[in-house]
Parts: sequence; structure tokens; C-alpha cells
Amino acid sequence: MKPNGTSSNTPRNGVHRDGLYRDAPDYNGQPADQLLADEIGDVHGAAALDTPMRPDAFALDDDTKIDLIEEHFREIMNILGLDLTDDSLKGSPRRVAKMYVKEIFRGLNPDNKPAPTLFDNKFRYNEMLVEKDITVQTYCEHHFVPILGKAHVAYISSGKVIGLSKLNRIVEYYCKRPQVQERLTMQIADELKRVLETDDVAVLIDAKHLCVSTRGVQDINSSTITSSYSGKFADDATRQELLRYIG
Ligand SMILES: [Zn+2]
Repeated sequence: MKPNGTSSNTPRNGVHRDGLYRDAPDYNGQPADQLLADEIGDVHGAAALDTPMRPDAFALDDDTKIDLIEEHFREIMNILGLDLTDDSLKGSPRRVAKMYVKEIFRGLNPDNKPAPTLFDNKFRYNEMLVEKDITVQTYCEHHFVPILGKAHVAYISSGKVIGLSKLNRIVEYYCKRPQVQERLTMQIADELKRVLETDDVAVLIDAKHLCVSTRGVQDINSSTITSSYSGKFADDATRQELLRYIG
């Protein structure tokens, strides 16, 4: 799955057809993905398509979740020895709790999934449509720190076209969860296929993981590229056309 050696920002021809890979440099001769796997006790890429959630995930309402997370985050700060009576710190547990539930993890709740606006493809545009440089701001589920980058999504209409901003919204929705980049890529691709009623969908994500840059191996230069090519995008010429567009 993983190409040899060094870091690159450019998807390599043929390497990632129909697949996903981590692209990160090796450290001390140890492949980065192995190093990560050892470190987190988990194997990237083995994750199922669905975000692992308990059946009772929404038994508590948002306000109750915020209250409980506030309580627990205060305890984390207490254990770290922070003085919660300090003006600067005392509001943090509540702030973090609200941020988790209402902002950065709001995409866990299917109620927040964007409803697609579809139109008939009246003008019979049957070339690919590419929405590039969509902002990716998500959170590594192993360390709960940001993953920041860009997504490029493309599709070839099967008779329906989607409102352009909905492509951004779909990316954003799946970003608002604890994620691994591989699963994020697949979840976006899967939703686009479902909504657009076509298999002719491609998704590429190029992102920096703050768990790699600010801790652990502390590599500030590497980025991770993942891709999903389905339908006509599995064809080499179509894929090359897409890669030209996104540069
Ligand atoms: Zn991480």
C-alpha cells in the first residue's frame, strides 16, 4: 500500500489506484506508518467505513453532553495541577465542552448531515466536475489534535448535478468528527456516490497531521495524501486529467 520512502505532495502515478495510502517519510529506517502503528497500537487503513459509535450515542441530548464533558475536562485540568480559580482558566472546561459538541464534533450526529440540493443536468454536461482546494479541518481520533489540509473532489454526472457548495458541506460534515484521514476520504467518496447516484467519483486529501508535526516524531514538513478513485476515475486517462486540473 505504501510507496517507497520519501515524502511527496504529489500523488504518484499508478501507486494509489483504487486505494489509499499514507505518504510520510521514514524515520531512522523505520517506515513512518509502522512507527505510527506501533505508537498508537492501531493500524491505519484497517478502519471500517463507519465511524465506530455506540448504539446509544444519542441517548443524551447536547446540553447534557456539554455538562458532562465540562465536568470531566475540569477534572483533567485539575489532575494536571492547573488552578481552576484563575480567571483565564476557569471558563475553559465549559468552552471545550461546547466546542466538542457544537463545533468540532458536530458531524457525529446524523441530524447535522447536509441535505443535498440536486438539479437535473439539463445542459447535458457530461465531463468531469472538479471542486478543488476545499478546506479540511478535522481531528485525529488517536490524539485529538487537528489534521489540516485540502480536499479535491470530482464527479462525472449521471444525470444529476449538485449545488457546488454542497460538495464543500459534505467534506465539512465528515471533517467534524474524530477521524483518520483514510476513513474521512472513504466516507466523503461514499456519500458523494450515494447522493449523486454514480460511481464516477474521486476524492483526494492532502493534509498535515499535528500529531506528527507537534509531538512524536515532530516532522513539520511531511503531509499525508489519500485518494479514492471509483468508476471512470479508475481509468488511467480520466485520473490523469483530474490530476492535471488539481495541479
Ligand atoms: Zn494522531
